[in-house]
Order: sequence, then C-alpha cells, then structure tokens
Amino acid sequence: MNPKLLFWVPAVLRTAIILGVCTLLGWLFGWVEGLVLALAAMMVMVFTQLSYLFQLSNWLEDPQSAKLPDGWGAWTSIFSRLYKMRREDEKNQAELTEWLARFRQAMHLLPDGVVIMDDVLFLEWCNPAAEKHLGLTHERDKGMRVTNLVRNPDFMDYIILGRYEQPLTISFRDRKLIVQIIPFENRRQILVTHDATETERIEEMRRDFIANASHELRTPLTVIVGFLEIAASEGLDAATRSSHLKLMTEQGHRMQHLIEDMLTLSRLESVDYPLRAEPVDVKRLVDQVQRDADALSAGRHVVTMSVDGPDVMGSYEELHSAFGNLASNAVRYTPAGGQIHLSWKTSDSGAKFTVDDTGIGISPEHISRLTERFYRVDKSRSRETQGTGLGLAIVKHVLLRHSSTLKIKSEAGKGSSFIVCMPKSALVLPQIELQLH
Ligand code: ADP
Repeated sequence: MNPKLLFWVPAVLRTAIILGVCTLLGWLFGWVEGLVLALAAMMVMVFTQLSYLFQLSNWLEDPQSAKLPDGWGAWTSIFSRLYKMRREDEKNQAELTEWLARFRQAMHLLPDGVVIMDDVLFLEWCNPAAEKHLGLTHERDKGMRVTNLVRNPDFMDYIILGRYEQPLTISFRDRKLIVQIIPFENRRQILVTHDATETERIEEMRRDFIANASHELRTPLTVIVGFLEIAASEGLDAATRSSHLKLMTEQGHRMQHLIEDMLTLSRLESVDYPLRAEPVDVKRLVDQVQRDADALSAGRHVVTMSVDGPDVMGSYEELHSAFGNLASNAVRYTPAGGQIHLSWKTSDSGAKFTVDDTGIGISPEHISRLTERFYRVDKSRSRETQGTGLGLAIVKHVLLRHSSTLKIKSEAGKGSSFIVCMPKSALVLPQIELQLH
C-alpha cells in the first residue's frame, strides 16, 4: 500500500474511534462529560506523542540500533524504519573500519614509502617506510611542510619545476631514493619513495665488473695484437719470432684463465645451478690439491699436508676449485724456499681446512676486501704469477654454497693462514653399527 495511506489511515481511524466513543459516552451521560472525556483523550494522545518525540530526541544523542525504543501506532513504523537504516549504517561503518585497518596494515608492510600531503605540501599522513626513508615522524611532523623536512636541493628543484610525470633519483641520508609526486583528488598529493640503494650497489658492482673484466682482457690482447703487427710488417729472425710466439701464448693462456674463472663465477652465482651434494673423500681431495701445489711450486717450496677429519657432503669439483685456489695462492705468494702446509681436521663447530704459508703476508687493511672480484694487494705481482684476481671470489662463492666460511689471518712479511670452516651439518659422520645379540 501507498506509505502515505499506511500512515494516515490508522491515525485517522484511531482518532475517529476515540471521538466516537466520547460522543457515545456524551450521549449516554451528558455532553459536558463527553467533551471533558474527549479533551482528556486528546491530551493523552498529545502526551504520548510528546513522550515518543522525547525518546527519539534522546536516542539521537547516541544513535545505536540496539538502544532504539519501541513505539506504538505510527511510531512503530518510524522506529522500525530508523532501526533498519541504523543497522545498515552500522554494518557499513564496520566494513569501512575493517577496510581501513587492512589498508593501514598494508601501508605498514609496504616496502615503499607513501606520504600524503595537501596541495601546498603540508604533511597529512605517512607510512613507516616513508618515515625511514625521509627521516620523518608522523606524530611530530604532521602539519609541517614536506620541503622543510626533506632538505635536498634536487627535491626542491623537482617541486619547483613540477614535472611530476617523471620520477626523480636523489641521494638522501646515505640512501639512493627514487621519489615521485602523484597529484590526486583535487587538493592532495602523494609522495612515493623507493629505496634503490641495494639495486644501485648491485648495478655499480656490475659496472665495475664489466670495466675490470674488459681491462683485464684488453691488456693481453694489446700485447698479442702488437706482436702480430710486428710479425706482419717485418721479416723477423727465427729466434725473435719464437720468443714473440712464446709471449703471445702466455698472454693467450692468461685470457683463457680469466675467461674460465669468469664462467666459473657466473655458474656459481646462477640459481639454475644448484649444489649437487655427494660424499666427498677429503683425503683424496687434499692429496690432489697437494700434488697440484707441488707441480705449481716446481720444487721451490716444501709443501706438506695432514688429514685427520671426517669426509664431507658437497661437490668434489667445487671444493677442489676452492681448496686448490687457496693452495695455489700460497705457492704464488710465497718466495722460493718457503713452507706451505695443508691440513684438514675436526673443530668445535665442524671441520677446518687450513692453508698456512710463510709467504709475503697481507697488511690488515686489505684483508676484508680480498674476496672482492679483481681486488689485489699488488697488481703486478698477481699478474706475474698468472693471477686473475678472481680466485678468492670463487672461493667465497663455493663456500657460500656449502654453508661454510673463510677466515684469513695474516701478517705482512711473515705469512698467512687461510681457514675454511665447514659446519657439522656438512660432515659425513661414521655410521655406528648396532649389533643385536
Ligand atoms: P689473484 O689471482 O690475484 O691471486 P685472488 O682472488 O686469488 O686473486 O687473491 C686476491 C689477492 O689476495 C691477491 O692478489 C693477493 O694480493 C692476495 N693474496 C691471496 N692469497 C695470498 C697469500 N697466500 N699470501 C699473500 N697474499 C695473498
């Protein structure tokens, strides 16, 4: 039925019934009594309406659906409709609160910084990542101008020029940040910050690696090309030609070593090349490393070894390359007449492979950088001894793949100890056979 009729018909009917009853009573007991009765009935009706109005106004102070009063007559429908509206509101509000909580949580977990500012760059809100990137504190800095908080000339220029369609890279508080302003709504802007310090570091390492590798390859190549040009232009006697050929072969080998080491490093770093662990016979491995070292030394050093520890799980080939690099370094950086000792023994945390030498040693300031690619204490000495500058970087990567670490102890002029520490989890412990009688 029409809602207007639904409201008016019962109200008019009720009033008509009350007035009808009063008229009947007036006809039976006298008109004056009837009139008084009608007035009294009207007063009761007015008072009832006022009382519901009062309850409604009270409820509006704290409009919770659970506290809505019951009504009579037309008020029943008013209150029930108010109840429905209020319930709907409460449901929407609960959903909104839940969404807001989820949004806040997401913003808290976001690795990128988000700052909400008004149109004149006054800070309204920021997430923890933005606090970390820009050194802000939401509670303290709220309402302050972001340009007063982020004092960086490039950032200022970016804001003055207003070319927000492009992100900007700035150096701020020892970080490389990529920032971008995105205008939204009519009078608000979002500042997004992304910490690119790590990416930038990796990119720099990549650039350095390419520059170093190109430089390392260019040197022998220049020598080879030089000799080839001489060979093409002049009639060389047999002795000079053979000496040139010998030098060219040496440079060719140097390039070959370098490329092999670069390929080994890239393979060790590749995720597509997982470690295939198998039991490694350490005695056989150290024996082979000693024989290689002896061959490289060609009788110039005394190379000894001792093996007193368990076998390990790992890759024979990779461990041979790591242990072999350490032993060959010992030979190459120990003057003739020196001693080199290789040892494998158990330790508190697992087992250790140590290479001790009585060589030239290393000053303390170089030690932490030795495993960097192409880092050498003395470049010319490394080249003289066929060094590629990648040996210890390869050792580091092999050990990483075997959950092991490298310790270096050295004293300039006295000698060095390179110690590979392998954890207990990598050891192949002897099986205890249980005999049941
Ligand atoms: P390289 O091919 O130049 O030997 P490595 O990565 O194997 O490259 O070693 C890096 C540098 O560490 C070497 O250039 C050398 O200066 C130093 N080094 C490594 N092992 C020894 C050692 N046993 N004694 C002295 N210096 C060493």
